[in-house]
Amino acid sequence: MRVKNVNATAYNTCRCGSWLGHWQKFSGQALGITTCAEETCQEWAEVGAHVQKENFADRAWYIALLCNRHNAQRGGSLDLDNDVKLVSANVALTCGS
Ligand SMILES: [Zn+2]
Ligand SMILES: [Zn+2]
Repeated sequence: MRVKNVNATAYNTCRCGSWLGHWQKFSGQALGITTCAEETCQEWAEVGAHVQKENFADRAWYIALLCNRHNAQRGGSLDLDNDVKLVSANVALTCGS
């Protein structure tokens, strides 16, 4: 799955405290056993990053867990594992704040 890493520093809070916490809450997956969502990367996931699918039918923003190195590539394209869990970044649909 090809996504764009959205530069979303203006959206760095939600009711969950962090986007990492937000991802954990809505993915149902535990942190600490999760590696970076990038296809070939084996680093531990450290940040909940805003991404947008490179698919014009779906303009929604999602949270994907990335390592610091991949999160730093703002505005760039990333290939994510196809079975990676994306959580909606739309707080109106999730944590509601
Ligand atoms: Zn949240
Ligand atoms: Zn990575």
